[in-house]
Amino acid sequence: MPYFKHHLLTPDEQVLDTLADLVWTVTKEEQRSPLVILSTSGPAYSLRQALEKHRPPGLPSNLMFLPRVLGLAQWLKETPGLRAEGIQKTDLERWYEVYRALSDRPQLSSLLMDSSDASKWSLAKKIIEVCDLLSDATLGVFDEVLESALSDAIAEVYQGASKQIVEVEARIVLAFWENLSSAQDPIVRQRRAMGLRIAELKNANADVQHTNTHFPIIFIQTAQASPGFEKALEQVWQAHASVTAFHHCSLNYSNVALWPECLSEVDDSKPMIQKNRDHFFESGKHLSQSDRRILKAQDFEDAAWQGAGAIEKLLQDGHQHIALIAQDRLVARRMRALLARFGDGLSVHDETGWKLSTTRAAASVMSWMDVVHHPAGPSSVELIDFLKNPYIDWSTFGITHDQASDCLTFLEQRLIEGDVRGTWSGFILALDSDNDETNTLVSIIRKLKNQSNRWQAASNSCLAWLDLLEQDLIDLGMSSSLSQDIAGQQLLASLSPMRLLRHHPMKQVEWLSLLSSMLEDASYIESNPRQSASVTILPLSATRLRRFDAWVMVGCDDTQLPSLSDSPMFLSAQLKKLLGCKTQEAEFIQQAMDLSQLMRSHQHWRMIWQSVGTTGEPRQPSPWLQRLYVRHPELLKDKLEVPTTSYEAMPISQPKPSLPEDFVKPTSISPSAYRALRECPYRYYVTRLLGLKERSGLEAEVDLSLVGKTLHAALYDFYHGLKTQALENDNIYERTKLLKKRLYAISHKHFKPLLEVDGRWLAAWIEWETLIPSWIDWHIQREQSGWVFHDGEKQVSFDLQTRFGDIRVSGFVDRLDIHPQEGVEVIDYKFSSKNSITKKKNNLQDDPQLVIYAKAVNEHDMVNRQPTTTASWISVKEDDSRVEVDDLQSEMKELPAQMIADIESLWGGSPMAASAPDSICQYCQARGICRKGMWS
Ligand code: SF4
Repeated sequence: MPYFKHHLLTPDEQVLDTLADLVWTVTKEEQRSPLVILSTSGPAYSLRQALEKHRPPGLPSNLMFLPRVLGLAQWLKETPGLRAEGIQKTDLERWYEVYRALSDRPQLSSLLMDSSDASKWSLAKKIIEVCDLLSDATLGVFDEVLESALSDAIAEVYQGASKQIVEVEARIVLAFWENLSSAQDPIVRQRRAMGLRIAELKNANADVQHTNTHFPIIFIQTAQASPGFEKALEQVWQAHASVTAFHHCSLNYSNVALWPECLSEVDDSKPMIQKNRDHFFESGKHLSQSDRRILKAQDFEDAAWQGAGAIEKLLQDGHQHIALIAQDRLVARRMRALLARFGDGLSVHDETGWKLSTTRAAASVMSWMDVVHHPAGPSSVELIDFLKNPYIDWSTFGITHDQASDCLTFLEQRLIEGDVRGTWSGFILALDSDNDETNTLVSIIRKLKNQSNRWQAASNSCLAWLDLLEQDLIDLGMSSSLSQDIAGQQLLASLSPMRLLRHHPMKQVEWLSLLSSMLEDASYIESNPRQSASVTILPLSATRLRRFDAWVMVGCDDTQLPSLSDSPMFLSAQLKKLLGCKTQEAEFIQQAMDLSQLMRSHQHWRMIWQSVGTTGEPRQPSPWLQRLYVRHPELLKDKLEVPTTSYEAMPISQPKPSLPEDFVKPTSISPSAYRALRECPYRYYVTRLLGLKERSGLEAEVDLSLVGKTLHAALYDFYHGLKTQALENDNIYERTKLLKKRLYAISHKHFKPLLEVDGRWLAAWIEWETLIPSWIDWHIQREQSGWVFHDGEKQVSFDLQTRFGDIRVSGFVDRLDIHPQEGVEVIDYKFSSKNSITKKKNNLQDDPQLVIYAKAVNEHDMVNRQPTTTASWISVKEDDSRVEVDDLQSEMKELPAQMIADIESLWGGSPMAASAPDSICQYCQARGICRKGMWS
């Protein structure tokens, strides 16, 4: 028997039970299981639980099963005959359509926004949102000649609206709207589904035999949709009521509303509101005081701690399933981190929607895009970021995971040492030596480079770019690891709509931008099993008709409750109203209703508001709470005491470790290690004996050591070349000219690879290039005064006898010159100014590097058995900057005794105190360990 029945349900704590009873009553009356349709599918699970609980005994077998419960959107999608209307455009196809229109008309996108690829994708998205909003608000049901009805409807609204508006942006959007409202677009299709259902019901009405095939329907409306949608839906329900039993359930707030706006359709709502408020406070008195509390938090962190503390207390009180309502999402996220301390026994389920782009899987794929997008190669940071991602299967490179880890540490170190900032040739240059590790790394880099070459096509179809990415993921072994990971599976699935864009050409940069926007847009759905204790994070709107043992709401201050949804771009509030879209006022009313329902239907809850905002601005409790508690303002300032933890202060003192007797002593010491020992014994202990080193980042400042090495190599080649290919030209002018030319050519050969990799070396090259003439002038003077280059880059050493055994002192001398009468000069090149070299000279006792070299050369008669007579530093950074060691002979004589005393004291167990002047401490790597500043 067809009929239309309206039910008004009070959304209190019994509402689900009432609904379940109603469903079973209809089942028994109609002797058929009804179809239960929810306006939003959120309460489906709670309703099924209530139906299970209230199943009447003694039902016949055909009615035993729970009736089908589904959301309205799903029901409309299942409309018979809808498939025959053609295929609905995917979101991506619509997105691409608008994007292409914007790209083809750059003046259009620049009129609306800046015209980078990323902002064009986002603009296209916003235009689609606005157009769908317009369609939803204005389009009716299309049950007959679809295309003409549709174009008539659009023309009508367009004409009406375009007369009223002056903003150029809104006019452009209206023009897009016409193109985004075809039968293949979702809102039009939804209205078409309604039309098909109405048409089918009309046919059934005419054919009595068909009438019985329709199930009774129970529609549960939990919130108001847009006026346009409501109107269209009403037509569908009326048609249903003409062939079958139809029950329309809506919520009646007159017994739960706590604010007058919830009853906007009632003429005089005051008495009802007063009665509800009295009841609210009255029922609170019967319960223990702590069941409903409004907590005042000082700031963000306090809000999160109080929120987590409130959940902990509720769990201890025996509540198992708790809702965390995230008016303030950031506080909710922070609380989630705090709740992790409770371990696996408490499961947390976030329904507020994580972005897929925040997952490790998405970050890994995007880091691969960073590696391939530039033909010259990625930056060092990008390369290392990618190689450290856990999805790579290193067996595809022929190495184990542990070997890969060692290789990466080595590569990072080489990139830092060489100050290589990026590019494929830069990486290969940094690995310029022949050993197993560098060979493995070079083959990895070459493989990545080959893969990157495939990405350098001018244009490809969207599908072809996707195929390329998928092939890369297979080649890198990432594909199988991603498919074993929940986020990875969702990521691969989220990319599949790209397969439909097989004939849509895109530049690489456009496609990368689309990929990034798609990942930014896609939601990550967690899948963790619900434990016996759980916390569900959800927005206020998702609490309708849902029941929890208790709830906690964060963000209950005047800036976040009620919350403002993002208003669509381009449409002013006035235009929205004119077009029949849902207004902000309607959104506020809905939130007031949701909050009333939530506060009245649960006995145990905490609401937390923050009295100081992030920028220090004062905040108040939500105006709704202030109005509700106007006679009880003290209840708005409750506080949950979070137990404090006290710590005992432990003073830190100057470190002075001693070496244990069984410490394995080093058998050699370099000049720089000895300098470290002299400057600060503790620093020597940390950096040289324990081998601890600060890990520099790839973003560190320019390291000039590579320039120094390059200059050493160039000068060595130049001087050796003069020995093997002497310049046979005695004309001083000609000779000078030829020498300059030769040094320039050799230097350029050494600098060239650096300059190709990174333009920052240009400054160093220009600096040296301008110094070449004065260097050659100095060289000519040396030649004329009889000095001859003998050798360079030579290892030299001598032994010291200590009471603990011999120790070898060794290092590399930069250059040895010889003079027939004056003997041998030991030279050290310095890439620093004359001033700093002079400081070195004055600090010879603590930094006797040159004296060590001179002594080593002297002891071994290395240079034609001639004695070392001079030692000097020469700056390769400034003209004419040679600084000589004073009284070298006595320095060489005194050096061994000083070194032996220092080393014996150390090996003998003397304390290695952290002691150095601030000028040294400020560059010390060990400062974080010695903690100077905390004890000095
Ligand atoms: S910070 Fe200063 S005192 Fe501390 S280890 Fe370094 S050099 Fe020595």
